Amino acid sequence: MIATMTDQAHHILKQTFGYSSFKQGQLDVISRVCEGKDAIVLMPTGSGKSLCYQLPALIREGVGVVVSPLIALMQNQVDALKLMGIRAAFINSTLDYKAVTAVESSVVNNRLDLLYVAPERLLTDRCLDLLSRTKIALFAIDEAHCVSQWGHDFRPEYLKLSILKEKFPGVPRIALTATADMVTRAEIRDRLILDEARFFVSSFDRPNIFYRVALKDNARRQLLHFIKGEHGGEAGIVYCLSRKKTETVAAFLQQNNIRALPYHAGMSDASRLQNQSCFLKEDDVVMVATIAFGMGIDKPNVRFVAHMDLPKSIEAYYQETGRAGRDGEPADAWMVYGMGDVITLRQMLSQSEASPEHKHVEQIRLNAMLGYCETTACRRVTLLKYFGEEGHKPCGACDTCVDEVKSFEGTIAAQKALSCIYRTEQRFGAAHLIDVLLGNNTERVARFGHDRVSTFGIGKELSTRAWHSVFRQLIAMGYIAVDMEHGSLKLGAESTALLKGQRRIQLREDPEPKKHKPKAIVKTTREDIDISDVSSRGLWENLRELRREIAAKKNLPAYMIFHDTTLKAMVKYRPKNTMELSRIPGVGDKKLAQYGKKFLVVINGENGG
Ligand code: ADP
Ligand code: ZN
Repeated sequence: MIATMTDQAHHILKQTFGYSSFKQGQLDVISRVCEGKDAIVLMPTGSGKSLCYQLPALIREGVGVVVSPLIALMQNQVDALKLMGIRAAFINSTLDYKAVTAVESSVVNNRLDLLYVAPERLLTDRCLDLLSRTKIALFAIDEAHCVSQWGHDFRPEYLKLSILKEKFPGVPRIALTATADMVTRAEIRDRLILDEARFFVSSFDRPNIFYRVALKDNARRQLLHFIKGEHGGEAGIVYCLSRKKTETVAAFLQQNNIRALPYHAGMSDASRLQNQSCFLKEDDVVMVATIAFGMGIDKPNVRFVAHMDLPKSIEAYYQETGRAGRDGEPADAWMVYGMGDVITLRQMLSQSEASPEHKHVEQIRLNAMLGYCETTACRRVTLLKYFGEEGHKPCGACDTCVDEVKSFEGTIAAQKALSCIYRTEQRFGAAHLIDVLLGNNTERVARFGHDRVSTFGIGKELSTRAWHSVFRQLIAMGYIAVDMEHGSLKLGAESTALLKGQRRIQLREDPEPKKHKPKAIVKTTREDIDISDVSSRGLWENLRELRREIAAKKNLPAYMIFHDTTLKAMVKYRPKNTMELSRIPGVGDKKLAQYGKKFLVVINGENGG
């Protein structure tokens, strides 16, 4: 007999999901929801949020209804659950009428554990009526940050989900997101009327991700070098600002023998879906995408996320980079950044037609993002502090920790740059201003008579590269403003204080470009399993091959059969029989029964199992 809820939760965790212990925070949330109470769960990607509603849905009577905006991924999510023997289904616009009625009938007849629906579908009379005739275990509102009007994933239908409280009193609701932003937290509570919910917030640190921001200097070559040098044959995501750029970057990588595919909202649904499914199923595809791609992508072995353009906020950066390394194994967040990015984003913001209030918020967010790029401190500490987590120590696993970045007293350089802008009447870009400072007799300098201004040749102590860095930092800090139309540089609001010497500033001394990844102590959340010796390597390859065959037959992504971490544990422990195999993390009863024999044969030869 199963005694307590906790025992029951552990039992299902082992039997169905194949894990013997909960991850940090999971059991607290599960207990709360099993008691029939509301919860708001804020945990980073990869921390195991799904289990927080899946397990209570299995324990509590009735069907667990999962609200998710990700129609294109529902099939995927449901497939993964079915492989574990969970009775799951979805209703969305991709199903025909017959299929919908079939699902509806399993709902009312209590034959489902979990039902996935899009919010607009849930809010229809038909669906609400169906659910009112059904025993409901819980409502899970996934990607709950979609209620935030300030956020980039805003979905208006999410606002209407507040009616769940009225219509289904007594059914616990659990809202989940990986967004760490304080404003969003409050919005989730208020807009979904979750005033009685308990908050479950865990640290947003992703210890297995290595953070790096390199200065732009032929970005495509830098990207190629990064992928070839550190992630050959691995899955990754490259983010670009424009649709066009995703195509050109993907083409460039293809020419250099990398399996890259573009993804953006301007493509046809069919080709977008095809590329997405290719990325999920294969293990060596690089997705070159706009931010339209990524929410809900639960591929565990994305080994890197690269940014070719600067994200608009730290929230966005954190979300996007968070898609790397869900499986807890080492992964990279890599970005190139330069003066052009600062100018583009500053211009985009001033041209935007948003309300002044909205613009102001965007401005603050962009400034924080620029501050992150320009920091001389630990990137991880900077990120976590932004999300309200104080007291973290420098991490040893980011570029600024590994290669210490120096700063210098930059007041005089800044004054020279600012007065050069002033003397040339605030009509020029950085390249020309630097020519003037260095005393270069270019044709342009002569044409405008700038060899006669007082700032001509006063900056010979710095190189062109160093002056670029000074200008970039002054723009990032707002001392230099960017002209909306022409992109020329002007004096920013607070430049006077600096010019008059009432304020002093420290500037970053940009490190020389590095060819290779700095050596770091990357902390993984999992036990590191060595597969480097010949026999382990061979077994690892054979297990992957078997997994690939099974997945291909079912037309499913390989990771759904077993994750890499599960295969690695098989290599390490070499289970000899079903009993031993069942102890491997990620091997639940259903998968054991279905594939156990085959894997034992590969591990032990024909006599195994
Ligand atoms: P999130 O939704 O928070 O991003 P997921 O629910 O996708 O995270 O889980 C991340 C990974 O952790 C998945 O591969 C999942 O199988 C695994 N996982 C979840 N719970 C546990 C657990 N208790 N023990 C081991 N692995 C777990
Ligand atoms: Zn660090």
